Amino acid sequence: MGADGVRPRVFWARTGVYRRPDSAGPIPAAPMAPVANKVCCPSRRQPRRHRRVAQCNKLSFVTVSLATSESAPETAEADVLVIGVVQTPGGPAAAPGLSGVDEALGGTLADALAALGATGEPEELTKIPGGGKLPATLVLAVGLGSAPEEGTSFDAERLRRAAGAALRSAAAKKAGANGASPASKAVTLALPSLTPDEAEAVTTGAVLGAYSFRKYRATPATDLAITVLTGDGNAAAVNRGQVIAKAVNLVRDLVNTSPLDLPPAALAAEAERVAAETGVAVEVLDEVALKDGGYGGLTGVGQGSTRPPRLVRMSYTHPEATQTVAFVGKGITFDSGGLSLKPPKSMETMKCDMSGAAAVLAATTAVAELGLPVNVVGYLCAAENMPGGAAQRPSDIISIYGGKTVEVMNTDAEGRLVLADGIVRSAEDDPVLIVDIATLTGAATVALGGRTTGVMGSSDEVAAQVATVMRAAGEAAWAMPFPEELRKGLDSTVADLTNVSGDREGGMLVAGLFLKEFVPDGIAWAHLDIAGPAFNEKAPFGYTPKGGTGAAVRALIAIAAETAAGRLPGA
Ligand SMILES: [Zn+2]
Repeated sequence: MGADGVRPRVFWARTGVYRRPDSAGPIPAAPMAPVANKVCCPSRRQPRRHRRVAQCNKLSFVTVSLATSESAPETAEADVLVIGVVQTPGGPAAAPGLSGVDEALGGTLADALAALGATGEPEELTKIPGGGKLPATLVLAVGLGSAPEEGTSFDAERLRRAAGAALRSAAAKKAGANGASPASKAVTLALPSLTPDEAEAVTTGAVLGAYSFRKYRATPATDLAITVLTGDGNAAAVNRGQVIAKAVNLVRDLVNTSPLDLPPAALAAEAERVAAETGVAVEVLDEVALKDGGYGGLTGVGQGSTRPPRLVRMSYTHPEATQTVAFVGKGITFDSGGLSLKPPKSMETMKCDMSGAAAVLAATTAVAELGLPVNVVGYLCAAENMPGGAAQRPSDIISIYGGKTVEVMNTDAEGRLVLADGIVRSAEDDPVLIVDIATLTGAATVALGGRTTGVMGSSDEVAAQVATVMRAAGEAAWAMPFPEELRKGLDSTVADLTNVSGDREGGMLVAGLFLKEFVPDGIAWAHLDIAGPAFNEKAPFGYTPKGGTGAAVRALIAIAAETAAGRLPGA
């Protein structure tokens, strides 16, 4: 029931029977109870009948408000109405639940799509004017690929990408007829959202696609009021999708922030700020405490910068939790390479070298917001790797927390040094699983490309399980081996081990083997090398913008959920 007593039309129950042109029978829609509508952040086009629920978020310096509604899409008074198009042997066809839109357009929807060259290919965008026949000004049709088998749901990642592509287009700043771009836009998504998984995916994709980083720009972004048309039974799923997307967008903000403004102490302060909002405990070790505590990796890497290192420990505990999972993130707030200086071109993206720590920060607080029944300890290993006068030298020997010594032969292989401190420390929390996350090696990108995470682990089984969980969460991941013969490249003549091998082969795996030396026996461990997926230098795609992507956040939340369920680590 609407807030003002007007009963909204029940969209899915009425139109949720979809007859595909290539199939013999209709796909029955799941029954769904009529529900109240939720909307927040009044926008100029919001229908009055929507019940307002506070769900406003200042995301990425763009105000995005999210609501759910069971209204029929053909009644949506939005600037942009997003609909789905599927590929069929007979040509493009509207996705389920759009017969009302088709009727409003005089039964011309399929013809219009075909005439405009739509095929239904994933993420393809086709614009159809509302033309006064619909309250929406513009219908934005987004391709969903081939329709799923009858009786099955749409693939979650495909929905995320479709919603993301649509919102990227809708959010793009374009001047209107009078030369000015609108201050706000209302976007309603009528994508397939019958099941909780579908509704969560559409929500996540939309909020991720709406992302825009405007911190350093004079012109404000267009504020967005997003409405997801779905059943009220999916409210929890929509909320989950929003929490997850908010966490990913937080990482994007941190990665995109100028490294001038984000030294280790600022990253620690951000962790404290976000944690305070979610009831997560935070402890920060400064450079003095790190030196006194024997954290030789963070101390050594950070000593070449005037802005000293920090180790941040975030801790979320749940009263019913029986398991603890530890996340350890590489937080090099800028990586010049140190005295083993990088060439200028390689330095251009090195503000992203704290992506792992940012993912830990965001995922730990998201797990708390979602109330997952698992304990999470998150470590942010934060340092700035600079070649100042006090910088560590190639051939310096440092002592990692716990006492193992490392001969630093290349100061640009610094991530593994700060992570080693964090991994050893995290083992003291008695976790069943340690997961470290790092933009660790260029070799990972050479091997797997720019979108796939390399997963290594204490055993092939753990690596495979974690990679599977990541893929299910919509993050491309591939389990990698640890060939035995590579380990001896890390032997040192003067210390317990060196930080780089003299041999260039298998660089991603050698880095993983280095970290493995610091994982105590008996604790399952996974290492995620996100050097490729953490930062997108190419064109935006799906819900992924240029710049910081927020890689690994969804993976870590999924890993926490699987640990809570007792499925990770497996046998
Ligand atoms: Zn480096």
